Amino acid sequence: MLRGLFRLILYAFVAYIIYLLFRFFQALKKVSKSPGHQTRRLSGIMVKDESCNTYLPKEDAIREVIEGKEYFFCSKECRQKFLEEGKRKKSG
Ligand SMILES: [Zn+2]
Repeated sequence: MLRGLFRLILYAFVAYIIYLLFRFFQALKKVSKSPGHQTRRLSGIMVKDESCNTYLPKEDAIREVIEGKEYFFCSKECRQKFLEEGKRKKSG
């Protein structure tokens, strides 16, 4: 009867080891699958804000097409400023 109990413990122990190995390999899979700490995908393209002359990632920029040309701005304020300056240049 004691041997039976010992066997049961042994089986449980082996099952536990298999479980640990399984988890270990799953963790390895996860690490190899993930592209890294960076979750956001960036194209790496930097664009210039014509209003305040700063460079920012294209993904963060506000895009505006003026007379067929593409312009990028860091904020709505810069966009507004640029549009107003353009109008002023035209009129004056
Ligand atoms: Zn700006």
